[in-house]
Amino acid sequence: MTALLEVKDLGSRYGQTDAVRGISFDVRAGEIVALLGSNGAGKSTTLRTITGLHRPVSGTVRFDGADITRTKAHDIVARGLGHVPEGRRIFANLTVAENLLLGGYLDRRHRATVEERREAMYKLFPRLGERREQLAGLMSGGEQQMLAIARALMNQPKLLALDEPTMGLAPIVAKQMMSVVRDIRDRGTTVLLVEQSARLALRLADRAYVLVAGEITLHGSAADLSKDPRVHAAYLGGD
Ligand code: ATP
Repeated sequence: MTALLEVKDLGSRYGQTDAVRGISFDVRAGEIVALLGSNGAGKSTTLRTITGLHRPVSGTVRFDGADITRTKAHDIVARGLGHVPEGRRIFANLTVAENLLLGGYLDRRHRATVEERREAMYKLFPRLGERREQLAGLMSGGEQQMLAIARALMNQPKLLALDEPTMGLAPIVAKQMMSVVRDIRDRGTTVLLVEQSARLALRLADRAYVLVAGEITLHGSAADLSKDPRVHAAYLGGD
């Protein structure tokens, strides 16, 4: 089966510092694939490079049959690759409803379509429906994360790249977030998930890649990686 996203020998740099050193991986349609690794391993840089926010120094990115290595970020979104960046970046001074409206900007000329999708988001995330008139900045961390995800889904991406959706959330909320990610995949959106919590990610993902200092050191099915002693020692607290 051909991959929906195919990354080959990707290199990314800040000034003279190599953040990502020639990594290759792929994501097939319908999968949840996790990128794991500790702080500074290069996970966010990988997502930022794939989604056109940072220029690669080497390699290629193919998405849905096209080379998007040098494509601009907004054109990449329009092709169906959505990104929920680390730290959420919602518009704090706008309401939930307004944030979602802006999320649907690709279809802004079709107001009825945008409204329909927004209603669908309120069904998927009932909390957002209850709080549609609330200023986004006044919501809890978990609710803001849901809003960031819902906003990206407004463009109906084929693939959603999620950067640490559980960051800063209480363990129970983090678990809920993971079940939201599963729902999203079950509704037909492929997911590339960056996570520091290997424990959560491996429970959810089909496959995973482990990044260490900008290189992929391990990859395999989530089931195999959860049993791998190297993953246990480094990322699962040895238990
Ligand atoms: P984290 O979970 O902490 O975000 P990460 O795995 O996502 O970690 P990156 O944020 O991709 O890692 O960082 C990879 C490397 O690039 C690190 O050494 C980091 O210090 C460096 N780096 C990241 N962003 C910048 C930047 N804007 N300018 C310079 N160096 C950066």
